[in-house]
Amino acid sequence: MREDVMNQEDTHTVSWSKAFSAALRIVVISLVWYVVGIAIIAFGAAGAVSSAISNPSLLLNPLSFLSSIGVAIAALVIGVTITSLGTLATLLKYSAELTADEVKAKQTGEPTTRLASTTKTCPRCGTPAVSREAAYCGHCGSKF
Ligand SMILES: [Zn+2]
Repeated sequence: MREDVMNQEDTHTVSWSKAFSAALRIVVISLVWYVVGIAIIAFGAAGAVSSAISNPSLLLNPLSFLSSIGVAIAALVIGVTITSLGTLATLLKYSAELTADEVKAKQTGEPTTRLASTTKTCPRCGTPAVSREAAYCGHCGSKF
């Protein structure tokens, strides 16, 4: 009973640290997506502005004016799409991986944690006992 409570606390601690490291990765990768999206938007806007500056008569022609505005808007849409989709995809990917890790840890990790928490260690050299029933240290031969 007491062991079960301890194991639950253990998995909770692991979950939080895993969640935080996953959150950190999500934030870092989301920042990359933001940079990419903003770069595309800035590139499109800069292209539209520079073409207007280099050729001011362009603005007098409604068709070319609209096309340079269109380029800027297209860049904005692509940039926002990449940023939002990239951020969302990163979030889904890492939360899915985190859940998968959690399930794996619950399936494979629990027996080893239970074993580790009950295994004796040598009072003289600190070597863990080979088995729970072992009477002598496998490393230095000292009695438990
Ligand atoms: Zn020993």
